[in-house]
Amino acid sequence: ANVLDESEATQAVQVALNIRPLIPLERVQGCNDCITVVPGEPQVQIGHHSFTFDYVFGRAATPLPGIFDKCVKPLVEGLFHGYNATVLAYGQTGSGKTYTMGTGYTVGGSTEGVIPQVMQTIFKRIETLKHKADFQLRVSFIEILKEEIHDLLDPNPPSTEYIFGGGLKALAVGKPPIQIRETTAGGITLMGVTEADVKSLEEMAAYLEHGSLSRATGSTNMNSHSSRSHAIFTITLEQRRKWDPLPDGGSPSPEDCGEDYLCAKLHLVDLAGSERAKRTGADGLRFKEGVHINRGLLALGNVISALGDEKKRREGGHVPYRDSKLTRLLQDSLGGNSRTVMIACVSPADVNAEESINTLKYANRAR
Ligand code: ADP
Ligand code: MG
Repeated sequence: ANVLDESEATQAVQVALNIRPLIPLERVQGCNDCITVVPGEPQVQIGHHSFTFDYVFGRAATPLPGIFDKCVKPLVEGLFHGYNATVLAYGQTGSGKTYTMGTGYTVGGSTEGVIPQVMQTIFKRIETLKHKADFQLRVSFIEILKEEIHDLLDPNPPSTEYIFGGGLKALAVGKPPIQIRETTAGGITLMGVTEADVKSLEEMAAYLEHGSLSRATGSTNMNSHSSRSHAIFTITLEQRRKWDPLPDGGSPSPEDCGEDYLCAKLHLVDLAGSERAKRTGADGLRFKEGVHINRGLLALGNVISALGDEKKRREGGHVPYRDSKLTRLLQDSLGGNSRTVMIACVSPADVNAEESINTLKYANRAR
């Protein structure tokens, strides 16, 4: 089996902090930048608090390529060696999660987000390897809202019907809800979710856009909707080694051969707004939503800190994956041989200082 080398294995989760620039609205409101980056160190100061991460990005003219190259590219490389991986964007609503991940991608739009760069890198890599192996790519795009999984690529989404007095109610027509299943080998699969075969970068980009749009139209207010739900874009890569003679007529060298078949997946996750982690509303519905969102982010924090607890890991300690749909779904791609990067996103504005400190604390648990 594949085993990561010692230095990599000691750190289950890498944490990158991404500080976005002040946006025009914050400037107009006269907000001040309240986060100081310690020069030459991946360390920040906010008020009396000081935090150290694996990487700190931000404010510079083009922060995003740095995030991709340093934190995400190695995961894409790992995908070709059969390692599952997860990239998570965490932070309050408005902190730059969607911008950073590229989850709001539109065809022809900016390609600087993480997902568009992942896609480009995968297809470039396949181009250089296609004489050695056959590659098959699939994508799925789902959303978790109130502990329910919704398929953003479903060509026939459940119809909505107005129930008198009861408001809008979704009616799934003849379709069972999406279920999380564990295979005997410990892999996680989603029953009933659309897995689209993709052959080209353009096709994959079209699915990303399609899913982003169905996410947006699922609600009258994009921001309130996306702040409540986790969006997960998953790329599955299968490769089958070719055994025909090499182009020069020779046969492949043993070290070139490796395994005949590899399959791995990369989850790219735009998490619900972290301010939801503690939200409690007066009316029952809001409260329930708060509780559910709470569950995903809370469980994720617990899983990640359990993974970071070396002693616990060595002793095969309990990692509470089963506490939420989010962590259950990511179970085979968080910890073990998989690689995880959390990108903690913060606004530098003083009005957001309290939420930013909460984000820094949450992200700090992961180290
Ligand atoms: P979230 O998804 O966390 O709610 P968004 O990604 O929607 O946040 O970002 C909020 C606002 O900040 C948007 O107007 C976005 O364009 C802007 N923004 C986020 N990150 C950056 C960045 N690195 N550079 C410039 N603007 C950014
Ligand atoms: Mg967003």
